[in-house]
Amino acid sequence: MCGSSQKPEVPTPSMPEHKIPQVTAKRLPLYYRYLEKLHAIGKQRVSSSDLSDALQIDPATIRRDFSYLGELGKKGYGYNVTYLLQFLRDFLKQDEVTNVVLVGVGNLGTALLRYNFYRSHNTKIVAGFDLDPAKVGTDVDGIPVYALERLPEVIKLHNVEVAILTVPLSAAQSTTDYLVDAGVRGILNFTPARLTAPSRVRIHNIDLTIELQTLIYFLKNFPGEESD
Ligand code: ATP
Repeated sequence: MCGSSQKPEVPTPSMPEHKIPQVTAKRLPLYYRYLEKLHAIGKQRVSSSDLSDALQIDPATIRRDFSYLGELGKKGYGYNVTYLLQFLRDFLKQDEVTNVVLVGVGNLGTALLRYNFYRSHNTKIVAGFDLDPAKVGTDVDGIPVYALERLPEVIKLHNVEVAILTVPLSAAQSTTDYLVDAGVRGILNFTPARLTAPSRVRIHNIDLTIELQTLIYFLKNFPGEESD
């Protein structure tokens, strides 16, 4: 029930000491966003089956995910929304904005600058870079496009650790080397190149062509079968 004047006492969450599995970590922002909505409408508690219906995640998975985070719920009561939200906010450091740059303001790069990951409160593309003089000095929805030479300076200024790579295949490795030298620690690689970087740099590859072809392959070869 919402609108009650008596607020339940919310204990201060403490962080788990062990590492949580990556599959769980990936789901935490989904929980967070939904709990934010519940909180906004004044809901004070939620059960794993409510969460399961809303997020289409099996309740046992939700209970297991939350069990990694510590003692968050009581049997028969469910989870305290404020507590869980506060916990996840701390856990995800939602209030800490991660600045990101994008290199290669072509068709895909422009689309990503426009998108600017608007659903996430904690990531923001601060600048695009390109070598085409016609693009340098312009902006995409308010995000400035700079010459490549300015990359080290902008990365320092905005404390950037993550870059999105949307240059042509032929420029992918040299741009990666340049980003690594400038101090970037994570690269979201939209090029088909298999990049080489020191082990301290994490690279995530997103090859949209392969993804689409894989989907079509499965539809053709395994029609009617459910994916997991
Ligand atoms: P467009 O049609 O605007 O050229 P595209 O996505 O088809 O877009 P690509 O050839 O993939 O074009 O290039 C993507 C962008 O990367 C272009 O804006 C291009 O100027 C830029 N680019 C090419 N080489 C580099 C590089 N070494 N560093 C940074 N940007 C580069």
